[in-house]
Amino acid sequence: MIEKYLKSYLFLFVQILLIGSSIFPSCSSISQTNFSAPNEFVEITNVIPDIILDLRYSTNHNFLGVPVDGYETDKCLMTKEAAEALLKVQEELKKFSLSLKIYDAFRPQRAVDHFVRWAKDLNDTLTKKEFYPTVNKDRLFIDGYIAEKSGHSRGSTVDLTIVSIPPPFQPKFDIEKQCKCYESAEKRFKDNSIDMGTGFDCFHPLSHTENKELSAQQRANRMLLRTLMEKYGFRNLAEEWWHFTLRNEPFPNTYFDFEIR
Ligand SMILES: [Zn+2]
Repeated sequence: MIEKYLKSYLFLFVQILLIGSSIFPSCSSISQTNFSAPNEFVEITNVIPDIILDLRYSTNHNFLGVPVDGYETDKCLMTKEAAEALLKVQEELKKFSLSLKIYDAFRPQRAVDHFVRWAKDLNDTLTKKEFYPTVNKDRLFIDGYIAEKSGHSRGSTVDLTIVSIPPPFQPKFDIEKQCKCYESAEKRFKDNSIDMGTGFDCFHPLSHTENKELSAQQRANRMLLRTLMEKYGFRNLAEEWWHFTLRNEPFPNTYFDFEIR
C-alpha cells in the first residue's frame, strides 16, 4: 500500500517537473554564445556576386572612428537563408538598374562588446560631429542607440540601402571633415545611396523609418527598400531605416562570436 502511494507521489512529482519544463522551456536556450562559424553561414558575394559592399566596421568610417573588434577583413557574412532572401530583392532591383548596398551583416559579439566599451567612454567623442551631433553620449544606452546584444550577432540581420547602377562616385571618408548625418544629401557625407534622408548609423530621429519631416522622395525611397525587404521575409526596425532581420531566422537564440577573417 505504502509502495503504491509512493509510486503515485513519484508519478505526480514527475508530472509537475514535466509541466514546469514546458511552461519554462527556454530558460537555458534564451541566449547562448557560439564561438565557431557554423556551416550555415555564407559569404554574401558567393550568393549575390554583383551586390555592392560598403562595410563600415572594418574601416574608420563608423561611429567609433576606428575599425571594430572582430572585423579582420572586409568579408560580409550572413546565414544562407538571409542571403538567399536578399538575392530575390536584388533580382527585383536589377530590373530597374538598382542594387542593394550592404553596410553590415554578421556582427561578432566581441564587436558589440567594443560598441559598449566605446559608449561608456564619455571622453571619446571623436565622431560626434558626424554620427551623434545632437545626442549627449551618456544618453546612448538609455535612448537605445547602443545595447549589449545585437540581432546582427545571430547572422540574419543586415544593414543596407539602395544604389543606382552604375554606382555614383563615393568619396573616401575623411575623419577630419565630418558632416552632420541628418543634413540634406548635399551637406552630409556623399554616400552613393539613393537619398534615404540620413546617413547610415545616424543617431537622430530622422533615421526613424516613418519620420514625417522627410521629403516625399526620401519617404518613397525608404518605402521601396522596406516594401521589397518585407516581400522577401524581412522586418524593419522602426528606429533605423537601414536595419532588417529575417523573420524566420535560423538561429533566433544564438549569438555568434567568431572573427570575420
Ligand atoms: Zn543594424
